[in-house]
Amino acid sequence: MKRGRINLLLTIFLILLLTMAACDIATDTIPPKDYHSELVVHFIDVGQGDSTLVQLPNGEVALIDGGARNAKDKVVEYIKGLGIEEIDYIIATHPHEDHIGGLPHVIRNFIIHKIYMPNRTANTLVFEELLLEIEKKNLKIDIVKAEDYIIDEEGFKVYFLAPNRDDYSQTNDFSIVTKIDYLKNSLIIAGDAEESSEIDMVNSNLDLRADLLRVGHHGGRSSSTEGFLNKVNPKYSIISVGRDNNYGHPHEETLERLSKVGTEILRTDQVGDIVFVSDGQKWRYESKITAGSIEEATYIGNKNTKVFHSRGCNSLPDKENQIYFKTILEAEKNGYRPHKNCVK
Ligand SMILES: [Zn+2]
Ligand SMILES: [Zn+2]
Repeated sequence: MKRGRINLLLTIFLILLLTMAACDIATDTIPPKDYHSELVVHFIDVGQGDSTLVQLPNGEVALIDGGARNAKDKVVEYIKGLGIEEIDYIIATHPHEDHIGGLPHVIRNFIIHKIYMPNRTANTLVFEELLLEIEKKNLKIDIVKAEDYIIDEEGFKVYFLAPNRDDYSQTNDFSIVTKIDYLKNSLIIAGDAEESSEIDMVNSNLDLRADLLRVGHHGGRSSSTEGFLNKVNPKYSIISVGRDNNYGHPHEETLERLSKVGTEILRTDQVGDIVFVSDGQKWRYESKITAGSIEEATYIGNKNTKVFHSRGCNSLPDKENQIYFKTILEAEKNGYRPHKNCVK
């Protein structure tokens, strides 16, 4: 009798112990937050228009705008050249052709997970084409307003500073303004937001400080107001603009206001694609991502003939004439042609 009770107590004790161990195992298997990877921002040179590809430190990919229709191939090839097949977030800042024109082609070419738009439609063919592609892929549109979040974690956030209202008179002011915070670094992509939206952002409680600013509306004079620039106080300002465009972008007044806040200006019409990389502590600027070493190279170019080969090709140039590329796009951007026998 007495022995039976001890056995019973022992069994209960053992069960308790096992349950506790099981709980321990469960908490142990949740992986710790790990941001060893970098935040990579590609301001793709799409001529007059906008397209920013962001490789987030958690491995996800966001595309903010897709350039104009005439840039659609460039955008798709650029993204494919990075080995990307899935885009987690597409943000269509506002329904103007120079921002959404390339997006239908992007949606056709990649697996898309989520798509964000402001509460503003347009009676245009290009907008209808975009809606059609979204429908074909059974995607649902998330309507964005200021303070909405995509990612909200300690040290890593992707969220929206605008639009703060839905009664603006100009389509540009409906632009989704995206902010990404990664540890000590942050970045704002301002779409085509103009003065009215900037005033609303300045008057909001949102933190506008960012070390990188994709300048609003291609450097147009009705964006980048003094009050907004003072709040953002960017170290680097990127202007996405076409050479000799019909709008005279970027406007002289904007460039003056930017230099007043002591920011460094980089323009796609002057330097082409612009890539910024952050490890969470500081940004580094790369005009292009060059592999540099044979270990990282997928393609090997011949400096004399300007032809590039796959790594495994049996007609590789001599070591001293080799140059290394990670992607076909990168090789082509540097003026190299593919060797027909080994590339694709
Ligand atoms: Zn616009
Ligand atoms: Zn625009």
